[in-house]
Formats: sequence, C-alpha cells, structure tokens
Amino acid sequence: MIHLGKEIQLETTSKYISQFRKGFPLINKENVIFPHNEEIKEGTIIKLVDSKGLFVARGYYGKQNKGLGWLLSWKEPEEINKEFIYKKLQAAINQRLHFFYNEETTAFRLFNSEGDGFGGITIDYFDGYYLVQWYSKGAYTFKEDVIQSLKELTDYKGIYQKKRFAEDGKYVEEDDFVDGHRPTFPLLVKENGVQFAIYLNDGAMVGVFLDQREVRKRIRDSYSEGKQVLNTFSYTGAFSVFAALGGATETTSVDLANRSLSKTIEQFSVNGIDYEAQKIIVEDVFKYFKYAVKKELSFDLVILDPPSFARSKKHTFSAAKDYKDLLKEAISITEDKGVIVASTNCSTFNMKKFKGFIDKAFNELNKSYKILEEHTLPEDFKTINQYKQADYLKVVFIKKM
Ligand code: SAH
Repeated sequence: MIHLGKEIQLETTSKYISQFRKGFPLINKENVIFPHNEEIKEGTIIKLVDSKGLFVARGYYGKQNKGLGWLLSWKEPEEINKEFIYKKLQAAINQRLHFFYNEETTAFRLFNSEGDGFGGITIDYFDGYYLVQWYSKGAYTFKEDVIQSLKELTDYKGIYQKKRFAEDGKYVEEDDFVDGHRPTFPLLVKENGVQFAIYLNDGAMVGVFLDQREVRKRIRDSYSEGKQVLNTFSYTGAFSVFAALGGATETTSVDLANRSLSKTIEQFSVNGIDYEAQKIIVEDVFKYFKYAVKKELSFDLVILDPPSFARSKKHTFSAAKDYKDLLKEAISITEDKGVIVASTNCSTFNMKKFKGFIDKAFNELNKSYKILEEHTLPEDFKTINQYKQADYLKVVFIKKM
C-alpha cells in the first residue's frame, strides 16, 4: 500500500544539524523551519534537508504534546512504506522473544515508539491480545500497514487500539476493538506470577502501568515482609497487591477516584487476597496525610506515585513544583528505618533533579536518609541514546535514617 500524502521538504536550522545526523528523532518548532501560513496535513512525509538542500532524514508530520513529528529513516533512498514498518515491528518482536516464552509474565510492551524506530506508536501485549496506541492523527495514517504487519508477524487473538490524538495526549472515547475476537473482560494477565485484571475497551487506562514491573517485583521480594504499607495515588492498587503477596502485615491504598475502590478490590480478589483485611480509601492523598498525622499513624513502607499533574477540588499538584512537599508529608508518617518509594513519570525533570527534591525534603526536616536503589524504564520500554528524554520514569527507594 502506498502511504497517502505528498512528501514535503523542510530545512533544519543549522544549529541542530549534527544532532539530527546522529539520529535525534523529534521534529519540533525550534529545530525545523516550517513554511509560513501553510498548513501541513497530518501524516505527510517530511524530507529533512540541510541549508544546501542535502538529505538529512525522512519522517512524518504528526502533532502531539512532544512535538510536530518524528524522523524515521536516515538512509536515502528509503521509503516509509509497509515493508519499512514490517521490519521495525519484526526487529522489536525479535528483541522481546524471551517475554513471549515467559509463562510468569504475560504482559509487556512490544513496541516503544521512537525507541523501536517509529515515534508516535506504541504496542502492548496482553496474553495474546495487542493494544496499539496512536499518539497523533499523523501516526494513525499508518494504521493499515501497522495492523497488517502485526497480523502477519504474530498469532494474535485480538487487536485493540487507543487514539490519543489531542495534543495533550488525551484519549478519544470510542469502541477500541480493531480485529480478531473480543475476549470477555477482565482479561487476566500475569506479571511475575501475579494476576492483573485488564480492560482493553474501557476508556484510556487498562488497569495497570506496565513500566513499573521491576519496582513491583522489588517491593514484593525485598521490602514488604511484616511491614505496614501505605500506597498513595494507588489507582487499581497494583503496588498494594505485590506488597500483600510479599507478606505485608497490612496495606492501605489511597486514591481520589471512585473507580479505584472496585478496581482495587478486584485486583486483590483475582490474586486470592482477602480485600477486607486490607484498607482501601477513596480520598485526596493530601487530606489523608493530615488525617494520618492527627491519628499518629506511621508506616514502614510508603509508596508515592503521583501523576505529573493533577487538579482536585482543593489542590493542584505539579510534580515539578510540589514533589518536595509531597515527600515531606510522606517522611513525617514514615517510621525511622522505614522506606519511601518515590516515583514520578514527569518528563520535564531528570533523575538528578529528582534526587535534588529528595535531598531538600529531608534537609528541611533535619532528617537523614540513604538511597537504597534506583529504577528507570525497563528493557521492553526501549529508548535510544539519541533521545534519552524518552526515559521519563524515575523511581528511588529511600531509607529514612
Ligand atoms: N500508582 C499507580 C498509578 C497511579 S496513576 C499504579 O502503580 O498503578 C495516578 C492516580 O492518582 C490516579 O488513579 C488518580 O486518580 C490519582 N490521584 C490524582 N490526584 C490525586 C489526589 N490528590 N489524591 C489521591 N489520588 C489522586
């Protein structure tokens, strides 16, 4: 199939040329000269050239929160067609064969956007079902070739999709079914032997964030035995389930969203854990902290995994501005020698800056601490050296001394 939309030629500003030649994949307003008053159609193939008109790379136009499109090929001539897409997908699959053969883990990321050579598209695997996410209308113009390649390369049971077209990555609500057959939901998948109830056709989120796999395992295997655990911003309670299975005395899950109660009950139940022996609280975390201080509660393990940005009735939380204060609240209800797992998916600051927030929080409370371990994205969330910004995940295990 020929991809519709003509190729247009755009020039890079000279400042960025060497970066682009080395493989930097993101096209944005600053690094490429766009024609004035001319709208570019989503999905248009872009040939990037230098000031002399010499080829630099080829990509496509697709507006998303991160930029205006992605470069895909640094070879000339090389067309962006079905064969190109098939090969990228095949390479991604080959790098993850060990996941397909792992019976203890049946959910992982199969294709990670520019990390696997095609920015704006991700594919996750859930026990034979595939979830394709399109991060721009431009990315979606490649749908036919992507889905066809996926069908040829895998023994899929079914394929679902999420259109995250809005520039802030917002999800378009519709029937997400694409091909194959529809399972009855929840679909039960496994992660290191633990079950997750997954919903592929029920809004923007499916029930679990796959990028925290290693962190969940560490919490279960080394930090939970005999501990009182507080899991804040708990969503479906995935961390609580791992903590309970790791031998936690009790877990407390706190999330503002009403859905979190039934979802958390479900995640405990599919793992044979009596949810009534756990605490599940639907409340603003900041309000809960005040309550915990008043009641003199304290925990051995406190998990912090807030969204990068959230607005509730009383609070606006921005990780970049407020993480330090969030940590201070957590520190005050953590036992001495207890552990705080501080996590953020905020891409506007790096690990160094994140550790700066941690340092400041402890210093302001005159407490000392020790960093026990650090995590970034796991291997299936592949990133490339030329675009390290894509490694948004930062998780630090901190011991309060
Ligand atoms: N830790 C979770 C993922 C967190 S997603 C996991 O591992 O699965 C972020 C969650 O924060 C959402 O479920 C959202 O409802 C919740 N949230 C956002 N603001 C909040 C607040 N002020 N208090 C409590 N929960 C909040």
